[in-house]
Amino acid sequence: MTRPNIDHLERRCPRLGSVVSFGYCMISGEDNLPCWKIFDCWWETFDVDGYLKQNLPNPAYNQLKSMAETPRNKIGSIIEIINQAKNQSKD
Ligand code: SF4
Repeated sequence: MTRPNIDHLERRCPRLGSVVSFGYCMISGEDNLPCWKIFDCWWETFDVDGYLKQNLPNPAYNQLKSMAETPRNKIGSIIEIINQAKNQSKD
């Protein structure tokens, strides 16, 4: 199956406050997964659920879906962003 080249699509990231590409969203999650908010952020632009279902291994898709459906509060999201920033600064 050919993966459509949609990595260049852009939107404002509600977590970072800046413009990011879909390609960034695909690699910015935990454990080499896409960001857990990817369903919320992209459903209005294209069938992101169908896209991820077709392009991620089944266990990865199921893990991401489960993470997306887990309620999170703002503090938890902020802590997650801080941890991501710390990990990225170590690279
Ligand atoms: S999916 Fe994640 S990284 Fe991408 S725009 Fe949404 S919150 Fe930001």
